Amino acid sequence: MKTFSIAKKVTLAIVSFVVLAGVVAGYSAYTLRIINQANIERDEITAARTSATNLDIDVLRIIINLQYFVAEKNEIYVDELLANRRASQLQRAQLRDLTTNEATLQQLDAYETILPERVRLGDEIIAAVRANASSATITQLRNERRILDDKAREYLRNIIEIEERSSATALASVSNRISEARGNLLLFMITIAMIAGVVAYWLYRSIVPPLRSLTVMAEQLEHGNLAALNTLDRKDELGVLATTMNDMAREIQRTDDIKSHFIAIASHQLRTPATAVKQNLGLIIEGIAEKEEDKERFIRDAYESNEYQLAIIDDILQVARIEAGTIKLMKARVDIGELVEKVINEQRPSTKAGQTIVYEKPIGITAQVDATKLRMCVGNLFSNAMKYTPENGTITITVTSDQSSVSIDVIDTGVGIAREDMPKLFAKFSRVDNRLSAAVGGTGLGLYLVRQLARLHGGDVKVESTPEHGSTFIIKIPKE
Ligand code: ADP
Repeated sequence: MKTFSIAKKVTLAIVSFVVLAGVVAGYSAYTLRIINQANIERDEITAARTSATNLDIDVLRIIINLQYFVAEKNEIYVDELLANRRASQLQRAQLRDLTTNEATLQQLDAYETILPERVRLGDEIIAAVRANASSATITQLRNERRILDDKAREYLRNIIEIEERSSATALASVSNRISEARGNLLLFMITIAMIAGVVAYWLYRSIVPPLRSLTVMAEQLEHGNLAALNTLDRKDELGVLATTMNDMAREIQRTDDIKSHFIAIASHQLRTPATAVKQNLGLIIEGIAEKEEDKERFIRDAYESNEYQLAIIDDILQVARIEAGTIKLMKARVDIGELVEKVINEQRPSTKAGQTIVYEKPIGITAQVDATKLRMCVGNLFSNAMKYTPENGTITITVTSDQSSVSIDVIDTGVGIAREDMPKLFAKFSRVDNRLSAAVGGTGLGLYLVRQLARLHGGDVKVESTPEHGSTFIIKIPKE
């Protein structure tokens, strides 16, 4: 299965939410448009009916204004009446335009047939009132007019009824459309909310539980419970973080192990020569060594053991200085051939029985180096070659140079080093067991120091080896 990284998941979730929000906005706008359109349609459907109702109201006003004029003889009612007549004329024209019903038009025609007679009677009533005609004359005219008014209003009521009936079905369908659109919007919102919920839950599941596990891991780390750390089987950032925390824990554990290992080695290594010093001096103090030559031998042995002790302490101090970064190179132009010769001569007394040292001192190979530190490097490699080469073996040292660098090769015919042990050779306190290592002492610091010092010079040390055939250690450093 494809694994999304947390960053991708969050981006995907944000994009989904934005898209969902857009879809919601779009769909809401669409629904709103449907509802607005339906409302407009509703107005159109009811327009003819509204017009008929308005016409009826105008006619009613004409009738009332005529009544008021008769009663009060105030010209203002005549003005009103004339205005109502104009309005009703407009309303009739509008109704003709708006209606789609034949029956309405028939009723309107019937209405308009009696209209001139109604108008005439209205005008006569007004003239009679103005001329102060007898009330009997006016009553007579009003009775004639009332009959026509009743007829006119009946036609109008018929029109309203026709229009109401015909618009009812259309109105119901519009209402249905509106409620359907509302229902769809609700359903849509619920679906969107569910999708958003699923996305949110997916995001939650991918982040929160692993974060909890990481918190537990961090707490375990804090309490030094390094072995109990879990891993998260994930390929995203949290998985990487968990792996990093695991690596950190392993590194802390390794450093811890190295520390314990170092204390064990250092105390063991220091204890062996210290015991020898004590034993040798004890033999003299307790008077066991009587002969002068025995005493001398014991004192010399004690002295040598003490020197060995100091050498170990020196190694440890060198390592500490390198780690603290306080070591300084005192460089000068040095004849490398001579430097190597001195190292060989110093250590020649430690060769095993039958071991042959082959060295052809070159002439004129010089380099800008710290002589003491380089001697330490060559000395370490040379003493290792002697330590890990059995009796009768050969150790060959060569010094060569090219334009920019000098190489010192220490070649032995010793026990060699297995391929799988190569990577740890130069690590601090790293000893590799071989059939000779138990017999010879060592702190596992020598090669570490050689590499660090060679690198301080801008060079490096390399090894090639064949088990049971021998090893070649090569220090290469720049001439300048
Ligand atoms: P030490 O010799 O004190 O153990 P070093 O750092 O000098 O420490 O060497 C590390 C390991 O490398 C040794 O324990 C040894 O197993 C291996 N080694 C070093 N030099 C040689 C060599 N010339 N031949 C075979 N093994 C060697």
